[in-house]
Amino acid sequence: MVKPDRHGVVVMRLGVKISFSMVALALLATLIAAYLSGIAIRSSFDLYVDRNLSYRLDRIGVALAGYYLENKGWTGVQAVFDSLQLKGSGYGYHGGQEGAGKGRRSMSAEMMIGPGSGDVLLLDADDIVVAATDVALLGRAVSAFSIGQSLLIEANGVAAGKLVVVNQQKGFLENEFISSLNKAILWAAVFAAIVALILSMFVSKHLTRPLAMLTTAAGRLAGREFGCRVPVVTGDEIGELAQSFNFMADNIERNERLRRNLIADTAHELRTPLSILRGNLESLQEGIIKPSPEIIISLHDEVMRISRLVNELQDLSLADAGELRLNRRSVSADELVEKASLLFSSEAKQENVNFLVDVQPGMPQIYGDPDRIVQVMLNFLKNALFYTEPGGIVKLSAFIKDDQGIFSVQDTGLGMAPEEMAHVFERFYRSEQSRHRAGGGTGLGLAIAKGIVEAHDGEIWAESKVNEGSKFSFSVPFYQA
Ligand code: ADP
Repeated sequence: MVKPDRHGVVVMRLGVKISFSMVALALLATLIAAYLSGIAIRSSFDLYVDRNLSYRLDRIGVALAGYYLENKGWTGVQAVFDSLQLKGSGYGYHGGQEGAGKGRRSMSAEMMIGPGSGDVLLLDADDIVVAATDVALLGRAVSAFSIGQSLLIEANGVAAGKLVVVNQQKGFLENEFISSLNKAILWAAVFAAIVALILSMFVSKHLTRPLAMLTTAAGRLAGREFGCRVPVVTGDEIGELAQSFNFMADNIERNERLRRNLIADTAHELRTPLSILRGNLESLQEGIIKPSPEIIISLHDEVMRISRLVNELQDLSLADAGELRLNRRSVSADELVEKASLLFSSEAKQENVNFLVDVQPGMPQIYGDPDRIVQVMLNFLKNALFYTEPGGIVKLSAFIKDDQGIFSVQDTGLGMAPEEMAHVFERFYRSEQSRHRAGGGTGLGLAIAKGIVEAHDGEIWAESKVNEGSKFSFSVPFYQA
């Protein structure tokens, strides 16, 4: 449960931590309750004891005044004190005042001053003790005592004596009460700790089970089991964590698939031109064919195909790593469109396709790498030309939309089905036509275009309808001076 890990750091399981903190919390809460109730009780207890005592002294005073009048003095008053049993046992601090009935016993009960309240002395007019709850104090002068409450006893308006309380120990009752309260609180604390422990075991089990599943799944993912996922059973943070884990696993699985495909596709793309080169070179070596200009041109074409693929792969890997070097500057959309048109128009003419250009007047300068942006436009234009029949139209346009410059290439070509469109920006994705038509590309052009546009903080998208044509667009932010 609690053990040092291999780095020597003490590891405490989450469940233990939760139980530990809940028990500590329960104990702390009961201790604070005990402390605060102790303070409150102490402050109100003195008041209660004083009031109680003064009520009782009043009752004793009335009885003694009656005695004084009847006996014309205090002689024999100790017997009354004794009979009143002022310090009688079994009577606590919480005696009911109102509930006391009439009669000698109940009268006596009302006069009891309770344990810890000190001794009650009756002083005569000369302040000498004539009656006391402790007979040892009889005859002594009052100055010898620390006096608590006192009550003057008058008989027919003349001061007959004084009733005083001495040796009062107020803390006694409080301590007795608080110690019994503390005992109760201690039991409450033990009970709360046990309940907290049981509850925390449930809670920690509930919390740690999905975490344990996540740990196992993460271990399996690390072991290249890319298909493993965890069930998302709660909507709380742990549920969100499970969701994020699944999302991460999806991405890892997708990237792993892409990585495998990339290697397989690259090998596949290199194999064709290399085998053509190899076949031709071997035939030349063996004298089967003669080194004619046509053969040399075809060999050169294959070498160019390989070097284009290598360049594209390099661009793609730079874009993937976010390291595509851009020379961004303020540049006019007209200038870029013009540059791309110049490079493309003769090709369009050759293929008998109508090439149109439309730039919104007054477009602000955009902020981008001119060569890279023209590269994206040319990629769109070449694709458009490739999929458009002679007599069709390819249109390059630039316009403003929501603080951004949009460049679009629209064609009246074959178009794409929705399921095809979902993949066009993936690397090495090629439609069947592209694979079978001569001159089809490597399937990397749009993936690179996407990398370039995203490096410009722009977006790239496609719209298309089968047999009606396609429209590829991208956005680039305007230059902010
Ligand atoms: P490539 O052109 O080298 O095959 P791209 O990445 O440029 O590779 O294009 C990927 C795929 O997108 C193409 O094979 C094709 O299926 C589809 N595509 C691209 N542009 C168009 C277009 N204008 N019309 C129809 N399909 C297109």
